[in-house]
Amino acid sequence: MATAAALAGVYLLGTWAVWFTPQTGSIAFWWPAAGVSVCLIAMAPRSWWPMLAVGIAVASVAANLTGGRPLLLSSAFGVANAAEAVIAGLMLKGATGRLVQLIDLKDFIRLVRAAVAGAIVLSLVATSAIALTGEGPFRGTFRNLLTSHASATLVIVPVAMTWRLRTGIAGRREYAAQISLMSVATLAAFGPEHSLPLVFVTLPFLVWAALRLDPRTVTLEALAVALATVLLTASGRGPFGDTGEGGVIPLHLAPPLVLGFILTNAFIALPLTLAITQRSRALATLSEREGLFRRNFTESLTGMLLLAQRGDRLEIIDANDTARELLDEPGRSVVGRYLDRILTQSSALRGATQTMLAGNLDGWRGHVGIAYRPDSHVDVAISQISAGSEATFSAQLLDVTALHQSLARTVAAERLTNSLLDTARCIMLMTDMTGRVIRVNQATTLLTGFSEEQILGHPLWATIVAERRVDAVREMFASGDGADIAGTRETDVRTTTGAPLRVIWSTELVHNDDGTPRYAVLTGVDVTAERASAGLMANLFQAGISTAIIGLDAQGLIRVLNSGAESLLGYTSDEMRERSFTELLDEQELLERTGEGGQSAWSTLTSTLAGGAESQARDWTWLSAQGRRRTVEMTICGGGGEFGPQAGFLVLGRDVTEQRHGQMMLMAALEKERMAADRLRQLDTAKNEFVSTVSHELRTPVTSIVGYTEMLADGSPVTPDPAQVPLLDTIARNGARLITLCNDLLALAGLDTGGTVWDRGTVDLCVLARHSEDSIRPLVRDRKLSMSFDLPETPVLVLGDSVQLERVMLNLLSNAVKFTPDGGSVTTRVWADADEACVVITDTGIGIPTEEQDALFQKFFRASTAQAMAIQGTGLGLSIVAGIIAAHGGRIGVESASGSGSSFTVRLPLRAD
Ligand code: ADP
Repeated sequence: MATAAALAGVYLLGTWAVWFTPQTGSIAFWWPAAGVSVCLIAMAPRSWWPMLAVGIAVASVAANLTGGRPLLLSSAFGVANAAEAVIAGLMLKGATGRLVQLIDLKDFIRLVRAAVAGAIVLSLVATSAIALTGEGPFRGTFRNLLTSHASATLVIVPVAMTWRLRTGIAGRREYAAQISLMSVATLAAFGPEHSLPLVFVTLPFLVWAALRLDPRTVTLEALAVALATVLLTASGRGPFGDTGEGGVIPLHLAPPLVLGFILTNAFIALPLTLAITQRSRALATLSEREGLFRRNFTESLTGMLLLAQRGDRLEIIDANDTARELLDEPGRSVVGRYLDRILTQSSALRGATQTMLAGNLDGWRGHVGIAYRPDSHVDVAISQISAGSEATFSAQLLDVTALHQSLARTVAAERLTNSLLDTARCIMLMTDMTGRVIRVNQATTLLTGFSEEQILGHPLWATIVAERRVDAVREMFASGDGADIAGTRETDVRTTTGAPLRVIWSTELVHNDDGTPRYAVLTGVDVTAERASAGLMANLFQAGISTAIIGLDAQGLIRVLNSGAESLLGYTSDEMRERSFTELLDEQELLERTGEGGQSAWSTLTSTLAGGAESQARDWTWLSAQGRRRTVEMTICGGGGEFGPQAGFLVLGRDVTEQRHGQMMLMAALEKERMAADRLRQLDTAKNEFVSTVSHELRTPVTSIVGYTEMLADGSPVTPDPAQVPLLDTIARNGARLITLCNDLLALAGLDTGGTVWDRGTVDLCVLARHSEDSIRPLVRDRKLSMSFDLPETPVLVLGDSVQLERVMLNLLSNAVKFTPDGGSVTTRVWADADEACVVITDTGIGIPTEEQDALFQKFFRASTAQAMAIQGTGLGLSIVAGIIAAHGGRIGVESASGSGSSFTVRLPLRAD
């Protein structure tokens, strides 16, 4: 339907144009039908073209015939029109098969090319026909046809190409004002006769439209002006219609002037509106990104501050919510205050601020506290955003108070455990669930003669377990569930001198939250002397005071007790005699263990002891004088004989209160230590997750900020002011640094959480070294550094991830280059040892002070030498390197001293053949 209407339009416009053909020639001076035909082809699906081409040809022939042209000429025009529409239409179809939109200057150039190409084809065909039929000269006709068709396409097709582009800057009122004034100006210019001086009065209004209105309105207005010009000129009005008697325009000049005018309008209005829309789009995207970036600032979980220079100090001029939560004192905002007032460590901070303000440092990282919260710990990183007399800085704050408190708790718990271990007089050992010793106290080394180093880190049975018990002990730990470990047992213990050592062990387990056993804690009392026959006499005397012996009758009433029992219980023999023994025991404990109380409990306890049997040694709570409770390892022996009735019982008890108390304390301390370590681990995981989420979230917007900034700096879409170029460069450079930082943090987070996926292939370190050399060369091109590579002829093969290993080499090489001043040298050596591949990168640079080398592979570490020379870096490279090497089962070491170069050695296991 629409197509039919358009074809009818082609016919009508054609007829109209032929009608208005000036008397001076055989051709119409503007051919709007051409524009409509091109739109038809460009907007229709491919399958419709043949039919449309025929339709256009027929409509044109009909229009020409109606306009009174001869059949032959009309037919030639018909074919030429169809050819023009197909050529231009095809050139204006985008990749999707639709008419392209007029969005940027490239599209405009495409439109011009299509209009000109179509018009040339038309002109060639039509002019030949005209020349052959003798209706007109070739040259003049060709030129007129070309301009009349090209200008029609250039004015009409843009309307279709901008139909959906409706965003302008102006408001409704401005639209109304512009459109009315434009109409008035057009009528003023083309309405009256003899109005040549007013010819360009419409132009400022068209420029206004291009600057402020949407592209569709602009193209519509240009079309409207073109139509008005043609119509009014044809009826003898306006600046170009003054062709009559005494008119200022010669008749044959009117058409080229009109076309020139139409084309001028098109060539001014279209590119201008395109440039403006493109610029506002770029700005909109940029401000959207900036909005995103701002949101990152305000909503970030890291505290962020914006700081401005005030003399030689930094004042907080903005803070995000997290920072406020952290720093605001009740009822007092941090904004407007000096940073060194808010944070402690002000001297280091001030020093760094002054160095930064002097331009010698563009960032500072440190560990500070918050002045009004004495126990707080905050990691802070300050970086310069802009320089100048009023330099601005940003500061990022991470609250690590919880981390520090956990650390402090761990240290305290560990101290308590150690002091308990070391002051105890009995043997104390702690093992993991495989039997490997992880703690040992001094008493153990004193009694057994094994040194701490000999015992620690080795299985129990490698040192102190007596030879004949080794298998049994190993068996105990083999199951891993600890079922057989806990309990009390008496065994011989191995000593370095071979001297006998007999110990009663009590073993307990420490469990994880989920109930799985984690450690075994063993305490042992030396009973060698008691058990040795040589010491029997002495022991009997000793036992008199250290062992409680109580004689009972068959009913469990106390008959006799020794002095050991008196001293343990704090009662005299007379006070105790005739009392029931069960009164000495904790009632609740007795009930729990026998299910009964009083006399019947006693019967249950002794029911299996007839005929001189002996009960298992077990810890019982005894109640002594003044209500004191003692833990006593107690054995009950049945008295009497085969022939007589049950004569009574003998109770033997040893006070183990201190020993058990020590063990309980130790277990509690271990538990505390374990919880603190777990909390630290959780915090560390949370911090890692946080860092990697933030880095990930940041990387995307920053990448696009950098991209857009580079576009702006390159002069697309508008050439920047020369004063803006350095600013844009700074944004791009700092953005690029941020991206590197994000990438490093993400790499580290991957290494920490095991999230990195490793490739495992054969890697030749020599090939890697050559690749790294190629990558590093551009860095040293402008430097006076001598670089040498000493690589063997034969490959040095390891198993691993070549991308990650190359990262290691590049990182070490770029550090060597970065930290070596001009005139120095950097040497890389690769070789294969017996079973290890070695890579050594040596430089003659600034070196790393010996006392700082312990921290070298920690995250964010930067040596004082690098900081003093203000050499940029994040301090993440080496920790990534260390992580990668560890994951490959290798080692990294450094030899360096301040000012005398550094040598990093990487050792990796060689691939087994
Ligand atoms: P970055 O180089 O980004 O600071 P790295 O983790 O790679 O981070 O290095 C950490 C720090 O170790 C550096 O800041 C520098 O102080 C020191 N360092 C590393 N390599 C060298 C070297 N070859 N010479 C001197 N110092 C070095």
